[in-house]
Parts: sequence; C-alpha cells; structure tokens
Amino acid sequence: MAGSGPLSAELIQRGIGMTSARTRARLIQRLAGAGIEHPEVLESIARLPRHLFVDEALASRAYEDSALPIGHGQTISQPYTVARMTAALIERAKPDTVLEIGTGSGFQTAVLAALVRRVYSVERIASLLDQAEDRLRQLAFRNIRFKHADGALGWPEYAPYDGILVTAAARGVPRLLAEQLALGGTMVLPIGEPDAQVLVRVTRHAKGYEQDLLESVSFVPLLSGVS
Ligand code: SAH
Repeated sequence: MAGSGPLSAELIQRGIGMTSARTRARLIQRLAGAGIEHPEVLESIARLPRHLFVDEALASRAYEDSALPIGHGQTISQPYTVARMTAALIERAKPDTVLEIGTGSGFQTAVLAALVRRVYSVERIASLLDQAEDRLRQLAFRNIRFKHADGALGWPEYAPYDGILVTAAARGVPRLLAEQLALGGTMVLPIGEPDAQVLVRVTRHAKGYEQDLLESVSFVPLLSGVS
C-alpha cells in the first residue's frame, strides 16, 4: 500500500476499478453459501477493502475466497476462515474486548474491530505489524491496540478478555492465553500438527474449560519469540 496519511481518493478509486461491487457481492454470496449465516459478520467483510490488505500485485485476487501470501512466509487468512472464526467467537455472546494473536495483514483485526468495542492485537514480526497498523489507521479504525511480542504469552496488562482469537496454530491450547480468558469468555483457535489441525472453541466456566471441535483447518504455525 502506497503512502501514509489518510486513505487517498486515488487509492480508493484504484480499488473500485479493480474490485467491482459485483466481485465483492460474489464473495459474500459464496460465504453465505458455505454456511456463514451471521449477518453482522457478512456485513463487516462486505464493507472492508480486502485489496488494500495485500500487495498490489495480488490485489486483483483479493476477493477470491483464498488465503494469499503477505510476505515473511505468512498469509492473509481465507475469507471463509475469517468469517467462520469471527462467527464462532461472537455468536453466543458478543465480547466487549478481544485479544487477537497474529495480526498479519490486519484483515481479521479489522473485521473484529468493526464488531466489538476494543481489539488488542499481538504480532511477532515487526514489519508486518507496522504495515497493519498503518493500514488500519488509514482506514480510520480507532479501537485497536497493537503489540510487538510473542503472542503465546498473551497481553496480561489488559486481561481478562471476553474473547481471544488466535490465527496461527499451536500444538495445544496455550496455557497463558487460557488464563487470560474472562469467566464466560470464548477463545477460538486452530490447534494440532501442520497437516492435522482443527479449529477449536474453548469456553471458560467457573469449574473449568469446555472445548468444542469446529472443523479441519490449515494455518501457519504459532512460532515463539519475535523477529
Ligand atoms: N489474521 C492474519 C493471519 C496472518 S497468518 C491475516 O489474515 O492476515 C498468522 C500470523 O501469526 C502471522 O503474521 C505470524 O507472524 C503470526 N504469529 C505466529 N506466531 C505468533 C506468535 N507467537 N505471536 C504473535 N504472532 C504470531
């Protein structure tokens, strides 16, 4: 994405040329057809200019339902996956605060920020975090805090969170994240080995944690340390 400062008319225009309303509507129909029923989730994806979250060379593919490379060996998640995880996080009770681990392009962050009061997003790769932060500032999001850190440690300062969403796969549920979930809160995360991952929803109750398995998924691994 070029330049800093507010989202320019030129940038928006370029996007409109590349991504007609029909192309975007087709993506939303596809998500609805794939079983995403939550109207607010569909609407927040429909409103977001996903082409501004990928490199210009890939912008013409931004409204396909696929993951795309964002550099550093990472990917912007598939729109279906973003929709599915967001719906799983908010459908029982809408969280007030959400901790997101793995900012990446910032697309999932933006979907969340459109739906909840405040999002805390942690990313271990500094240059991805800087780009996402610029992008979301240009898109006028004001309810997101960013942190450059190893997300497996969570973000204790603002804990507990009503919702936690993790966009990289760990072997199991990271203990420190589970501890930072509020009572009654929900965490959605992929867990498992690279070729056998499953999306899990963890709910914290007074007596412990309940886990539901949602579906098979394919995510990049949750790595330790920062870079
Ligand atoms: N939701 C993002 C997905 C990016 S891919 C998007 O749609 O753009 C997963 C991201 O998790 C990558 O940016 C990767 O750097 C980050 N990540 C992996 N392990 C991490 C960790 N321990 N802490 C924070 N971020 C991590």
